[in-house]
Amino acid sequence: MKLLEERILKDGNVLGENILKVDSFLTHQVDYKLMKEMAKVLADKYRSQGITKVVTIEASGIAPAAYVAECLDVPMIFAKKHKNITMTEGILTAEVYSFTKQVTSTVSIASKFLSAEDKVLIVDDFLANGQAAKGLIDIIKQAGAQVVGVGIIIEKSFQDGRQLLIDSGVEVTSLARIEKFENGQVVFTQADA
Ligand code: 5GP
Repeated sequence: MKLLEERILKDGNVLGENILKVDSFLTHQVDYKLMKEMAKVLADKYRSQGITKVVTIEASGIAPAAYVAECLDVPMIFAKKHKNITMTEGILTAEVYSFTKQVTSTVSIASKFLSAEDKVLIVDDFLANGQAAKGLIDIIKQAGAQVVGVGIIIEKSFQDGRQLLIDSGVEVTSLARIEKFENGQVVFTQADA
């Protein structure tokens, strides 16, 4: 998506060997106009597939997922990284290793929000090694629901996530695909939408 690639080039900062910081429009401060445009592209791609829920993981998946859910007129559910005392009913859980925080955490979704009738679109801000999306797929399958696809804002194609998801039979749609970082600059490869 050209608009997103331009924004990454303008406002993204490469940190170290493999991290892109985009906190001015995606992961901390949110540019709602860009978010709406991006959500529309992902929603249009999956509109005909009867999606009933959009699922993401807190925190920075929530903004893009909420906009996609609005476009598809379905609920958005975000997996929680910390169990809290209000989660008294049945919960579905998976272990997720966080690429940026380098810790494994148990993520959970209340089982009452997913059923075997659901057709789910997973949405996340980044795809790196695919552990977040894999954990969500695991939870959605525990509910007997179907994962229709994974919509990603920024994919780092030099990491293993895309292949991991394709190997588990799930379609991936990324709005921007980064081939590499070269001397602190972002180099893109052809995106999916
Ligand atoms: P994965 O689970 O695919 O290895 O990593 C995806 C998760 O890690 C995303 O939910 C995102 O929060 C975080 N992440 C991975 N790579 C980056 C990055 O380069 N920049 C930022 N800001 N977050 C990232």
